[in-house]
Amino acid sequence: MTEPTIYEMSVAGRVGMKYPQPDVPLSPLPDDMLRRDLPLPELSELEVVRHFTNLSSKNYSIDGGFYPLGSCTMKYNPKVNEETARIPGFTGTHPLQPIETVQGNLILMYELQNWLAEISGFSAVTLQPAAGAHGEYVGVMIIRAYHRDRGDLKRTKILIPDSAHGTNPATSAMSGYNVVPVPSDARGNVDLEALRTLCTDEIAGLMLTNPNTVGLFDENVLEVINIVHQAGGLVYGDGANFNAVLGIVRPGDLGFDVMHFNLHKTFSTPHGGGGPGSGPVGVVEHLVEFLPGPLVDVIKEGDADDYPLFGFVEPPKSIGRVKSFYGQFGMHVRAYTYISMHGAAGLRAVSEHAVLNANYLLSRVRGKYKLPYDRICMHEFVVEGSWDDAPDIRALDVSKRLMDYNFHPPTNYFPLIVHEALMIEPTETESKQTLDQFADALLKIAEEAHTQPDLLKSAPHNTPIGRLDEVKAAKELVLCCWIPEDIE
Ligand SMILES: *Cc1c(COP(=O)(O)O)cnc(C)c1O
Repeated sequence: MTEPTIYEMSVAGRVGMKYPQPDVPLSPLPDDMLRRDLPLPELSELEVVRHFTNLSSKNYSIDGGFYPLGSCTMKYNPKVNEETARIPGFTGTHPLQPIETVQGNLILMYELQNWLAEISGFSAVTLQPAAGAHGEYVGVMIIRAYHRDRGDLKRTKILIPDSAHGTNPATSAMSGYNVVPVPSDARGNVDLEALRTLCTDEIAGLMLTNPNTVGLFDENVLEVINIVHQAGGLVYGDGANFNAVLGIVRPGDLGFDVMHFNLHKTFSTPHGGGGPGSGPVGVVEHLVEFLPGPLVDVIKEGDADDYPLFGFVEPPKSIGRVKSFYGQFGMHVRAYTYISMHGAAGLRAVSEHAVLNANYLLSRVRGKYKLPYDRICMHEFVVEGSWDDAPDIRALDVSKRLMDYNFHPPTNYFPLIVHEALMIEPTETESKQTLDQFADALLKIAEEAHTQPDLLKSAPHNTPIGRLDEVKAAKELVLCCWIPEDIE
């Protein structure tokens, strides 16, 4: 059933709002800029509220249900983050205000830079990048600047394991590098033999996700990093999976040279439609001079009568600015809140529970779903959504059927190295009861795949919209659901 649009509900003359008294003299709008033929909907306040409230409940959301979308770390975003982000002293500041008047904002950014550096084992962190992929771009441009600065111009390749997220090769290509894939071995680790062969003096570095996108901690990570360093390359860490190792392992200590954080994954700032992302980047000592500027730092030491003065500094060989102003400040406030609410021990507990939850779910579905790598997993795991004795069923059918059980589907068909991949990440914020309900649904669906395959093929059955032609929806995207007749 489709809802009427607000245009179809419109009744001429109905009004839902009042303009405030103007505090400036009235003056007519320029007539040639007004569109007299533009039909705007006319509705009461209640009609508007009901319409949008009903529409919003048709969207699946983390506040509405379990969201096991692998690699995305769809953890609950605590509401206290929103309270602090809305403190008027933060929302009322302008990025061009004199620094003396925004010391609170600067101290928050300074501490967040330092906390992220401490948690990850890096020397310095920039908060500028606006997403994980943006952070990757910054990191690879820093790797490029490092080699160029040393006059080492023959390095034209970046190595990327075949399990990597698509943003890794995209980033490398955008930064002017040739992408060379590295195969995984039978246990899901980087294939060391293949890596040794590929590590020539033409490689600028390796982009490594650890734990990787199959949810496995690379058992040879120290050796992998060592091989790349021996060849003169640098190692980029894709930190999207940082939620698995907070307070347990520091990537800087493992030997990674540069890494991005996804504040909107690990540090509970909202994802995608919920708000802008934020992808800070941390680097080791010898890369600090290349970081994008400005960074927040103490620019005048304090003394007995005065606090230190915080301001901006420009790293000497900076790759330049990568974002207007200072990044997504509202997200910095949310991540700062999340880290301070947890403290060091709390962050470690986050990862321990995330890993425990994933292994609990895995243990409940093991035997009913094929496992490409049957190992203890980290914060997520990948199963196959297909069975030899249920030949018509694909991962997509399992996912669509999960919607009937009121769960968001897991990530489908990624990573590419797993046949009919279903990538499941519960996160630490889910209770055992929710995990059990989800496992029960997965087991029920595995049974249905054999006894009532049509039920899966035609799912979902009780969502506002049924099975879509996904290729058509992607190729012939209709962004506007209502086109006024006289504009058509
Ligand atoms: C999410 C993700 C990214 C990209 O992060 P965005 O913030 O979505 O740009 C990169 N790598 C991995 C493994 C990811 O899961």
